[in-house]
This record gives sequence, C-alpha cells and structure tokens, in this order.
Amino acid sequence: MKRLIIATNNQGKVREIKAILSGFYDEILSLKDAGINHDVVEDGNSFHENARKKAVEISEMVDGDVLADDSGLCVEALDGAPGIYSARFSGEGANDEKNNAKLLSLVKDKENRRAWFVCALVLANGGKEKLYVEEKAEGRIIDEPKGENGFGYDPLFYVEEYGQTFAEIPAEIKNKISHRAKALGKLQEEVGRIQ
Ligand code: IMP
Repeated sequence: MKRLIIATNNQGKVREIKAILSGFYDEILSLKDAGINHDVVEDGNSFHENARKKAVEISEMVDGDVLADDSGLCVEALDGAPGIYSARFSGEGANDEKNNAKLLSLVKDKENRRAWFVCALVLANGGKEKLYVEEKAEGRIIDEPKGENGFGYDPLFYVEEYGQTFAEIPAEIKNKISHRAKALGKLQEEVGRIQ
C-alpha cells in the first residue's frame, strides 16, 4: 500500500494534489487527515527552502513519502512580491480576501500586470529530501476578482490563452495547466526515474 502525506493543511492545495496524483498512491492524506498537528516555521528565503523544510520535518515524524508544496504569486511590477510571503501578504489575520484586496491596491496604478505563480515541490522520506522540482504558470493581474473556483489569488490571475482567470477556468483544466500541475507532472517523471 502506497501512502503519501501532503505536508499542508491548505485545503485548496490538498484538493488539487489529490486530483492530480490519485492514480499513483493508494492513499493521500493531509496533515490533519493523518492526525499530525505540527506547525513548520516557514523562514526560508526561497520557495525551495520552505518546501524542503516542510517535507523534511514532517517526514521525520511519519513512515513513507511526504510531499510539500511551497507556492506563491510573483508580480513583475512589485519586484516579485508577494512571492514567498503570498499566504501572509496582508499581515496578521491574512486570508484570501484580504490578500487579494492588498494586491489590487498595489497594482491599481501599474501598467505592467505580468505575474506568474511558482510551485516548488519537495518529496522527502525519513528526514531526507529525495526530489525537488519547481514550475511556473504565466498570467496577468486584472482589476477585479472574477470566478468562484480555485483558491488564493485565482480570481485575479488572468490567463490569456483561455481568456479567463484561474477561478473561472474549470478545475479539470486548471489541474492541467497550473504551476502545481506542471510541477506534479515533472515530479511524477522524476519519481519514475529514481525508482
Ligand atoms: P504557502 O502555503 O506558504 O505555500 O502559501 C501559498 C499561498 O500562495 C496560498 O495561500 C495562496 O495565497 C497562494 N497560491 C499558491 N498557489 C496558488 C494557486 O494555485 N492559486 C491561487 N493562489 C495560490
């Protein structure tokens, strides 16, 4: 029986990772589902460092593979912010709504709206990093939220090719084109290579 623990309690991430990897593991559990109550301090300086920290720390506590996703939104006109601070962009008590409002207020007067999501994935086992991949998805920030799907900054992230935001694009499609989908695809290839 192959079991994967995802080192997060972010339900948006859990939902997407489960949808994409369900064919490869018999059981995929979030930290909460696995009964693990442990907060990893995300004090790294990159998506990779934070993902590594989460995966390695949790893998010291459980048997089997642990996957951590550290992801975020980078906006060119904001010098790459919010970046690794995406989840806590609006400070104490941050949530998706407040983060999106802060982003909108900062890009309001900017002409350059280019943005990209980054997803770093680390697969760890027994306290060691086994695999690391990182991928991006390109888009731009629009002036008001659109769509009900997805999570986080999805309603503000417009993808030219589809003429829709990540929150308007159906989940089946987001799960093929997103930074997370691309990174999980690459991770699957790498898993095949090392096993
Ligand atoms: P982390 O838990 O530190 O990796 O924070 C990731 C944050 O980046 C989330 O809370 C979201 O705000 C944002 N984020 C990451 N991936 C996505 C996505 O696919 N859509 C929208 N927002 C995302």
